[in-house]
Amino acid sequence: MNLIILGLPGAGKGTQSDFIVKKYGLIHLSTGDIFRNNIRNGTTLGIKTKAYMDAGIYVPDEITNNLVAARLLQSDIKTTDFILDGYPRTIDQANFLDQTLLTIKKPILVLYLAINEQTVIDRLSSRRVCLQCGRVYNLKFSPPKINNKCDIDNQTLIQRSDDKETTIKTRLEIYKKETLPLVTYYQNKGLLKTIDANLENDKVLATIEQYLLENDNG
Ligand code: AMP
Repeated sequence: MNLIILGLPGAGKGTQSDFIVKKYGLIHLSTGDIFRNNIRNGTTLGIKTKAYMDAGIYVPDEITNNLVAARLLQSDIKTTDFILDGYPRTIDQANFLDQTLLTIKKPILVLYLAINEQTVIDRLSSRRVCLQCGRVYNLKFSPPKINNKCDIDNQTLIQRSDDKETTIKTRLEIYKKETLPLVTYYQNKGLLKTIDANLENDKVLATIEQYLLENDNG
C-alpha cells in the first residue's frame, strides 16, 4: 500500500500521514519537511530552496522531482511501502512520478483530503510548531498546555514563515492553479479516494482506515 496524500495546505496531510505511518509502518516522505530540514541545517539544497519556501511559492519541479526520485530509488523502498505527503504538486511532477513508479514497480493510491478554504485559513493562521521536536499545535483547536511552549520539551513555539497571512493567500492561489488539477488527473486514472477533511482529525482518520482496510481486502 503506497499512498499519496493530497489536499490544500492545512488540510491535515502531515497529521494524518503521521497516524498512518505509525499504524502501518510506512516510510513518510514529506517534501516540505525535507526542505525545512535542509534549510535548518544550511545545506546547499536548503540555500537553494529557502526563498521559494518563505514566499509560499513552489520550489522548481526539477529540484523537487530529483529529490523524490533519489529517495524512492533507495533500497529500503523495495521492502517498505511509503506515503508521499506534499508531492506531487504539479501535473509535471505527477507525470515524472508515474515514470519513477514504473521503474520501481510500485502501485499507488491517492487520498484526497477535501476541505473548505476558510477552514484552512483559520487553521494555518493559528498553527504553531516546535522546532526542537517537530510537534505541531493549533492555538485555537489543539493549544499547548503552557502558553506558547511545547508540551514535550518546553521550547518556545514558532509560526512557520509561510503561515503568515499574506503568504497563506499566495499558497492557496498557487494550490488552486497548480495542484487542484491533480484531483482530476488521479480521478481519471481511478486512483482517487476523496475524504471529507472538514471533520475532526480522529473522524478523518477513521474514514481513511476504513478505506485502507477495504482496499487491503479487495
Ligand atoms: P508543505 O510543508 O507541504 O506545506 O510545503 C511547504 C513548502 O515547501 C511549499 O509551500 C513549497 O514552497 C515547498 N514544497 C513542498 N513540496 C513541494 C513540491 N512538491 N513542489 C514544489 N514545492 C514544494
